[in-house]
Amino acid sequence: MVCSNKIMAPEDGLVVIDDFAEHLEDLIHEHSTPEAVIQSNPALVNTITQEYFEQFYDLFHEDEGDIVEFSEAMKHRIVDMKAHVYRLNKVIEVSKNRDKIKKPLYEQFMHLCLLAHYACIPTEGPKQYFIELERIKDAKDAIDWTIHLEEKTWWNPHGWTRMLEALHGKKET
Ligand SMILES: [Zn+2]
Repeated sequence: MVCSNKIMAPEDGLVVIDDFAEHLEDLIHEHSTPEAVIQSNPALVNTITQEYFEQFYDLFHEDEGDIVEFSEAMKHRIVDMKAHVYRLNKVIEVSKNRDKIKKPLYEQFMHLCLLAHYACIPTEGPKQYFIELERIKDAKDAIDWTIHLEEKTWWNPHGWTRMLEALHGKKET
C-alpha cells in the first residue's frame, strides 16, 4: 500500500504493475540525490523500495545459506525497513545492473505489483499495467487474472500473491 489508509471500497483502488525501478532511476537524474528523491514523495518512494525488498527478495539479500542465525536475520530485516536511502540506492544499483541478473525467475524484469488508492499513485507510464479492484472481486476473478498474467514476460508471482493476500487475507490452514 502506498498510504496507511485501508482501501474501503473496491471502486477506490487498483493494482498497478510497473517497472518502478526505472522511474526511480529517472527521478535520480532529475533530483540528483537519493535524499531529494525521497523528499519528493516520501510515502511512495518508501513503499516502492520496501516492496522491491519483499517482492524481489533474492535480488536484495545475499545468499544466506541454511544456517543463518535468527537474530542475524531479524537484524537485516530491521535495517531493510528503516534505511530508506540505503534501500533506494540498492534498488537503483540492482536496476542498473539488471542485464547481469542470473536469477531465472526474474530475468531482467523488475515489475513491481502495488496496491493503491487511485489518488495515491501516479497513473502514467508506458509500461504500466492496471487492474481496477472491481475486477478482482472474488476467488474466480483472482484465478482468471493469475492465468492471464502468468503469460506476461514480466510476470512477478511473489508480488501478485502478496497483493492478493493484502486484498483478501490469508487463509488459515
Ligand atoms: Zn492511499
